[in-house]
Amino acid sequence: MSHIAFIGLGNMGAPMAHNLLKAGHELTVFDLSAGAVQSLAGAGARSAPSARAAVEAADVVVSMLPASAHVHSLYLGQQGIVPHIADGALVVDCSTIAAATAQAVAQALAARGLAALDAPVSGGTAGAAAGTLTFIVGGEAATLERARPYLSAMGKNIFHAGASGAGQVAKICNNMLLGILMAGTAEALALGAAHGLDPKVLSDIMGKSSGRNWALELYNPYPGVMENVPAARGYSGGFGVDLMHKDLGLAAEAAIAARCAVPLGELARNLYGMHSLSGSGGLDFSSIIQPLLRE
Ligand code: NAD
Repeated sequence: MSHIAFIGLGNMGAPMAHNLLKAGHELTVFDLSAGAVQSLAGAGARSAPSARAAVEAADVVVSMLPASAHVHSLYLGQQGIVPHIADGALVVDCSTIAAATAQAVAQALAARGLAALDAPVSGGTAGAAAGTLTFIVGGEAATLERARPYLSAMGKNIFHAGASGAGQVAKICNNMLLGILMAGTAEALALGAAHGLDPKVLSDIMGKSSGRNWALELYNPYPGVMENVPAARGYSGGFGVDLMHKDLGLAAEAAIAARCAVPLGELARNLYGMHSLSGSGGLDFSSIIQPLLRE
């Protein structure tokens, strides 16, 4: 069993850390939120006073932070943990961030002789809790084999997308499609309901027709259609509007870098951006249906 430093215990990181504990690993955890650290400490993890202290004796470092700026700060900026990571340790960043930031972190770690992966995830908070996440990995194949036992404790599917940064590119393509599908699903359900259709019946019809998709079938945005989704609990928990907006921004940046057009991705980015501006940034992204529904 290994000694793992886990940094970032939010909606995703906390259940992922729990699964590593359940698999028998020794965990030292750190988060800027003391409450998040407390709840893991209650489950048997050791709490560290800083990120640097957390990584000093760890064989493996796992981070799960909101965005590029946080990951940059942790590894290369203010918190600057790279010089403090133990020799020979393996580093796995699971945050969804810009490929360029993932590559910069991997290069700084490589300069110290440390192996690193970008390993963003798909599967949401339910997948994180159930240990069924999909890992989309960028980095060397041999490094992925070293990480496989830890990733397997937190997820079910592990894909090697390519070299450093490739995991982030694949993840951004997926999330751009998800953002578009959720906005489209919301629009279709709101239109049907405005014509008096029962949104549950409409969901059943579209779920067996050519409009079927993940947002409709597993994460339905219409309140009352499905249990155990954010729409059933006032859009709390889940995947925040601001995080989706961030991912669509990453997709737009990636499109500019490759001189590629993403018109629907850009439209979706603006929709989630306006929804955030109206005060909904902290709600789950399926709340994009709210401005479309009649009172
Ligand atoms: P979150 O905001 O719930 O959690 C982030 C945690 O990181 C918070 O507890 C915060 O206090 C902590 N943190 C921030 N900066 C820190 C720092 N410098 N040092 C230590 N701790 C720090 O976010 P989340 O929903 O857990 O998402 C994390 C990442 O996973 C994001 O990149 C997101 O895009 C991605 N993701 C989320 C979901 C989802 O359904 N929520 C699904 C797939 C991928």
